[in-house]
Amino acid sequence: MTKRLAVAMLYPQEMNIYGDRGNLESLTRRAERHGFAVDQIFYEPGQPFPRHADVILGGGGQDSGQSRVVDDLTALGPLLKELADDGLPMLMICGLYQLFGHHFRTSQGDVIAGIGLFDAVTVGGSRRLVGNVVADWDGYRLVGYENHSGLTELAGGQAPLARVVRGAGNNGRDKTEGARTGNVFGSYLHGPILPKNPRLADELIRLAAVRRYGSFAPLPLDDSLADRARAVALSRPR
Ligand code: GLN
Repeated sequence: MTKRLAVAMLYPQEMNIYGDRGNLESLTRRAERHGFAVDQIFYEPGQPFPRHADVILGGGGQDSGQSRVVDDLTALGPLLKELADDGLPMLMICGLYQLFGHHFRTSQGDVIAGIGLFDAVTVGGSRRLVGNVVADWDGYRLVGYENHSGLTELAGGQAPLARVVRGAGNNGRDKTEGARTGNVFGSYLHGPILPKNPRLADELIRLAAVRRYGSFAPLPLDDSLADRARAVALSRPR
């Protein structure tokens, strides 16, 4: 029988900047190529939460969009923490990555509460950090694009996702990019990140499959197109 995976995207209306929804499409196609049938779920504020999801994705957004989803996200916080503790893989980009920390203080001085899944805080800076990024994730080059004013500081015990090779990452200062706690990944990288970094997509699928079915037997996939896109991305100036 075909194995199924359910992939949910949080707030696709407000939190979907620079095509972050492409992460959902990419993860879906890739899981299908590994032999799974995939159910896509679009979660908007106030809807019943899809507790059965095998992967949860979230994208970036304007400060105003972050303000519009914050009440719903705050209400979901305890459940998301419970699911994270249970090993549910999640990938949050930029705006939602910021709100998975303790809070985001915008450059206007408004404080948008986060759910504290990452031990991190974000403060709006006076200039935007914009451009192509390369970051080292356990020896794999993550490529992507960033555009944020928020500067994220990780607490001492919080693991980053990757080390910046080119670009700004969390704050342009300490070379950290994103955060990782258990199976929850946060990153500033748009692009979107998953089609450009198939190894990260496969890692999310592997974590989801192992959690749901106890094992993952990846099929050999032809990544030549993604490899070519990565080579171009790696050669681009900031
Ligand atoms: N509004 C946030 C910032 O500028 C997030 C932006 C984004 O998601 N690209 O820092």
